[in-house]
Amino acid sequence: MDHVSGTAGGTSQALKALGEDGTSLARKIVEETAERAAQLTERTGTAPCLATVLVGEDPASVTYVRMKQNRCRKAGIESRHVALPAATGTEELVATLRKLSDDPGVHGILLQHPMGAHIDERAAFEAIAPEKDVDGVTFASFATMSFGLPGFVSCTPGGIMRLLDAYDVDPSGKRAVVVGRSAILGKPAGMLLLARDATVTYCHSRTADLSAALREADIVVAAVGRPRLIRGQDLKPGAVVVDAGYNAGNVGDVDFDSAAERASLITPVPGGVGPMTIATLLEQTVTAAARQLGV
Ligand code: NAP
Repeated sequence: MDHVSGTAGGTSQALKALGEDGTSLARKIVEETAERAAQLTERTGTAPCLATVLVGEDPASVTYVRMKQNRCRKAGIESRHVALPAATGTEELVATLRKLSDDPGVHGILLQHPMGAHIDERAAFEAIAPEKDVDGVTFASFATMSFGLPGFVSCTPGGIMRLLDAYDVDPSGKRAVVVGRSAILGKPAGMLLLARDATVTYCHSRTADLSAALREADIVVAAVGRPRLIRGQDLKPGAVVVDAGYNAGNVGDVDFDSAAERASLITPVPGGVGPMTIATLLEQTVTAAARQLGV
C-alpha cells in the first residue's frame, strides 16, 4: 500500500481525485469504445446493437435503462428496447430473451434487474446466450470471469477493477474485504480480486463482527445497499475504499466524511463506481459485436 498511501497522503484533495478519475476514466473508455464502434460499423456495415429488456415500469429501472440507451446512442451503439408488462411471467420472459439470443441483429442483451418477485431471475438470466451476456450475469460469465478465461465480466465489478488499476492499486497480497455477496456485484467482485491474488473475505448480513473484518482490510468493496453502513472507525488507516452502494438521496454504503479521514483512497457517490459500470457495459457490447461479426 506504500504507493497508494504515498500518492494520496490522506488529504481530501487526493481523495477527491479518485472520484474525478472515476468519471474521467469512464469518459475515456466510452470515447475509445465509440471509436471502435465507428470502425466496426464502417468495416462491416453493421452497427453494434444492445437489446435492453425491462419488465414493468419501476421508475428507477426506467431511468437506468434510458440512461444506458442514451449512452449507447452517443457511442454509436444502436439499442433496441423491449418493454414488457409487470405481469409478465418467467416463461414469457425466457422466450423473449431466447429470441433475442438467436437474433443476429442483436449483439448484446441487458436484462434490467431487480425484477418482480414472481419472476425466476436466474432462469431469465440463463436464457441470455453467453456470447451476448455483456452485463455478465450468466453462470457461464461468472465461470469464465473466475477462471480468467475469455468472456464477459459483471459490469460493476469489472468497472471497479479498472478503477483500481487506474489508481495503481495492486490487489496482489492485499487483504480485501467485500461487503455483500450478490450474484451480480459482491460475489464477482471478490472473484476478480482473488484472480488478482488478493486474500479475499466476504461479509454479509450474517457476518458476526463486520467491524473486526473491516479493520483488517487493505481494500474494502462496499456492495450492500445500506446507506453509510461503513464508517471511518471501522477502517484500517490507509485502506482503499470502493463504494459501489447507491441508495436513495445519492448516498453510498460508506460514510464518506468519516471514512475519508482514514482511507488513503476512496470513491465518492455519485461519480465513482457508477460511471464505470455503464462504460464497461458499452465496451463489452462492442467487443461482443466484433466477435459475432468476425472482425
Ligand atoms: P443485494 O442483492 O441486495 O445484496 C446486498 C448484499 O448486502 C447481500 O449479500 C446482503 O447479505 C448484504 N447485506 C445486507 N445488509 C448487510 C449488513 N447490515 N451487513 C453486511 N452485509 C449486509 O444488492 P446488490 O444488487 O448487490 O447491490 C448492492 C448495492 O450496490 C446497492 O446499493 C445497489 O444500488 C448498488 N449497485 C450499484 C451499481 C452501480 O453501478 N454503481 C450496480 C449494482 C448495484 P445477505 O446475502 O446475507 O442477504
